[in-house]
Amino acid sequence: MNSEDLINLTALEIASGIKAKKFSVPEVAGSYIEEIEKTDKHFNAFLAVAKENAVKRASEIQARIDKGEDISPLAGVPIAVKDNISTEGLETTCASKMLKGYKPVFNAAIIEKLESAGLIIIGKNNMDEFSMGSSGENSAFGVVRNPWNDSRTAGGSSGGSAAAVAIGETPLAIGTDTGGSIRLPCSFCGVTGIKPTYGTVSRYGIAAYASSLDQAGPIAQNIEDCAALLSVISEKPFEYNNALTSNADLKGVKIGLPANFFSYSETAEDVKEKVLTAAKELEAAGAVLEEFEMPLMDYIIPAYCIIGFAEASSNLAKYDGLRFGYRSPNAKTLSEVYRLSRSEGLGMEVKRKIMFGSFVLSADQYDTYYRKAQQVRTLFIDEYKKLFNRFNMILSPVAPTTAYELGKNSGDEQNDQPWNKYLSDIFTASVNLAGLPAAALPCGFDKQGLPIGFQLIGSAFSEKKIIDVGRIYQGLTNHHKLKPKSASYVPLPNLRFEVCEKKNGESS
Ligand code: GLN
Repeated sequence: MNSEDLINLTALEIASGIKAKKFSVPEVAGSYIEEIEKTDKHFNAFLAVAKENAVKRASEIQARIDKGEDISPLAGVPIAVKDNISTEGLETTCASKMLKGYKPVFNAAIIEKLESAGLIIIGKNNMDEFSMGSSGENSAFGVVRNPWNDSRTAGGSSGGSAAAVAIGETPLAIGTDTGGSIRLPCSFCGVTGIKPTYGTVSRYGIAAYASSLDQAGPIAQNIEDCAALLSVISEKPFEYNNALTSNADLKGVKIGLPANFFSYSETAEDVKEKVLTAAKELEAAGAVLEEFEMPLMDYIIPAYCIIGFAEASSNLAKYDGLRFGYRSPNAKTLSEVYRLSRSEGLGMEVKRKIMFGSFVLSADQYDTYYRKAQQVRTLFIDEYKKLFNRFNMILSPVAPTTAYELGKNSGDEQNDQPWNKYLSDIFTASVNLAGLPAAALPCGFDKQGLPIGFQLIGSAFSEKKIIDVGRIYQGLTNHHKLKPKSASYVPLPNLRFEVCEKKNGESS
């Protein structure tokens, strides 16, 4: 099989091809690395490629498979991980100048799981700096471009991970989701992802943004690959593989549609239409649809921002120029070390969130903002509980729009509209506040040919149900199988360097 065909296979097809000796683990890893080298100068979905290590690991895994060892359902399959996940000896920057050159001395728990399941880590994905952003533009090492239209954003913050899967640079990726960061880029790039129930995947070794909201999860071409990967990384022994073989049907499954998400002023017509069509397909397959009003919609983004940014301000205090990371060469006194290292090492959005978070936690403001937001969070948890007494699942768009132009709502001095970007998480963030699982699945394209995604939200630990419904949907539709045309990729040399220089200038 030639590399062009290899990189079109799904992860489970690759794994079974390896088992059947149709191709070898080193051949597969080689094909993906070749694709990254060919296309990624343009898309910037990778910050590091682990070529040497991947080649070495690939032969080791092949030797074990040849000996007849049954390592895991994904043995030998390449995977890329977001750059906020610690990889021993491999640069882990969180896409920040602050951590440029930082090589962790240990692996995140999730990396250990991937390695013991025989997956081959091929590289680290670009992202919004410290996972802060919704567009993939906040990286200190240049923006991620959307594989379907390179003048658009890939979504964020796991933009590199979703774009890499869409391009065919990797069959699998790991993203993280604090307020929508797995689901949003999946929706913008036309791939499938799962944000698991809070606590399902270990956060050990993942650079924290907001610890009570952060959750890592799988990104792939379809829900079956995501399910297989979730079974590898989950700390809770779920029988996800059953979801792949069970004959689940939709008879009697009650799906709630939040009418106020669909009628929200920013929801694009195409998004509304395609997501409702997806709901209708599930109805035709036996599900029962019912509209409801999502409670507290106006409080989703305020509560998310207060809690998320408050936690961020505390989590990011450790980047002080002393313990590790960037230290300003201009600092002459101790307070200058703190001030200049943080001013020069962190980007605009990160600083904005730290300032906002420090404000809401300050003695004067704590009761007005932080305590209030925590009370609102409890209301979300209670309201979702009530909703899941009525419905088995909730179906909504992932985001109000499709991928927007690069540079729009960028939150820089000339175009200071960060709030617009925060609002792109309005359909996703309450899921994190309540700690629930949700999957994002592609359901078509808008008139400009940009992918649209919908999400299925379930009650805590109902991943198997979500996967069953997603699998039935993808069995009935082809949206997840469509790929952007690689013929139009024109490499732009020095993209990273140019953007990186601009970003550095901006943050000083
Ligand atoms: N866009 C949101 C933020 O910047 C969510 C990011 C995420 O989920 N990591 O806070």
